[in-house]
Amino acid sequence: EFDVHIIGGGLAGSEAAWQLAQRGMRVRLSEMRGSGQGGTDAHQTDGLAELVCSNSFRSDDDEKNAVGLLHHEMRRLDSLIMRAGEVARVPAGSAMAVDRDVFSAEVQNALEAHPNVTIVRERVDELPQAGLTIVATGPLTAPTLAQSIVKATGEDRLAFFDAIAPIVHHETIDMSICWMAARWDKGGKDYINCPMTKEQYLAFVDGLNAAEKGEFKEWEANTPYFEGCMPIEVMAERGVETLRFGPMKPVGLDNPHWATPEHPNGRWPYAVVQLRQDNKLGTLWNMVGFQTKMKYAEQVRLFRIIPGLENAEFARLGGMHRNTFINSPVLLDRQLRLKGAEHIRFAGQVTGCEGYVESSAVGLLAGMMAAYQVTGREWIGPPRTSAMGALLAHVTGDAEGESYQPMNINFGLFPPLPDVNKKARKEAYTARAKSDFGQWLAALEPVPA
Ligand code: FAD
Repeated sequence: EFDVHIIGGGLAGSEAAWQLAQRGMRVRLSEMRGSGQGGTDAHQTDGLAELVCSNSFRSDDDEKNAVGLLHHEMRRLDSLIMRAGEVARVPAGSAMAVDRDVFSAEVQNALEAHPNVTIVRERVDELPQAGLTIVATGPLTAPTLAQSIVKATGEDRLAFFDAIAPIVHHETIDMSICWMAARWDKGGKDYINCPMTKEQYLAFVDGLNAAEKGEFKEWEANTPYFEGCMPIEVMAERGVETLRFGPMKPVGLDNPHWATPEHPNGRWPYAVVQLRQDNKLGTLWNMVGFQTKMKYAEQVRLFRIIPGLENAEFARLGGMHRNTFINSPVLLDRQLRLKGAEHIRFAGQVTGCEGYVESSAVGLLAGMMAAYQVTGREWIGPPRTSAMGALLAHVTGDAEGESYQPMNINFGLFPPLPDVNKKARKEAYTARAKSDFGQWLAALEPVPA
């Protein structure tokens, strides 16, 4: 007998189990690793909450950094992941890094010792028809279950591959060089355009060809990318003009900064990099068609030679890797429940958040939400101005479904503070968040009462 069935004993599933168990709910936690029914291509142990790659939870600075703020909020909610992280902590300056084996063992021991948690080593192949369920099967969800999710959500609602274009903070784009326009002036002036001369374009293509590329892991290389989302460096390799006829096409884009008496509306540049608004707040803009597998340092170096992006700061860099995630803004309600099958909740990276800490945070929220649902109490979500609220808003609706891509927490997801001086802005975001989060927590009816 159990109140909630959690599928997946990774970061999100373990955190959700803890939040439920601590509130008196009985949890069945199903984890396929250790069952003899298969594992994933990235996990190497049978331990719960295994960190598959780096051992870092990134910045622990809760005054100037969005992920540090997320740590702070999770600690205030008695996060198991943060607790275990503290025990397993290794020196890493202002970052929080952990010994991965100690960390995983801490999480597993805490859940094994909990009277309300039953850990079952089994692979779940179908979404349950009934009973409160949290699906936290991660970026490498077993294919059988992925098929069942596709059946429930529709063919084109589950992505198996990230082709991520870099995303730039709007305030770091130089609009004295760029301009807003749509091609042939059609349908408003929705794009930010960065103009290039012939020399600049050729230098940029040379830079792409010389750049250090990230390797595809064998199991990633077998996942084909579609023609429509080919990495820019692959396009550059195909010929010097390929990009100019692809994502960097300049036709129909009069640059008013280049206006002359004969061309009062301006001239077409030789090539153009376009950015499209990425969130409702207008704080984040993605570089259209610029998915890439280049190393991060190379991306920053190269993209900053694009006119207008000399001082660009990136909310996320481009990437391509295997990642199973649903189109959450379309499919889920504000409580992470599948619309039309409200007994199913999703949590962790499969919702399209990105990163260890973010996945754990969404797991934490899913666990709390389920506890409120079981006990019939009203759930009021964390404030939009907090890190948890901003992350939840990104996952459940603010990021319009069409270009929905996984993202780490960053201040671009927070309601903007345009009146605060740029130098003081990070502190202002965290101060506002802590104050609003504290009030929310104080007002929240606790479970158990
Ligand atoms: P997971 O931690 O993967 O947990 C999902 C669990 O579900 C797994 O234990 C899996 O075995 C289990 N499972 C899957 N299907 C089933 C099923 N049908 N039945 C039962 N159990 C099932 N983030 C970072 O912050 N830093 C990094 O360095 C980093 N590196 C990454 C490297 C790779 C190769 C990948 C794929 C992702 C990486 N991420 C990284 C992203 C992400 O933060 C991690 O994947 C994180 O573990 C996600 O947490 P999760 O709980 O959603 O999924």
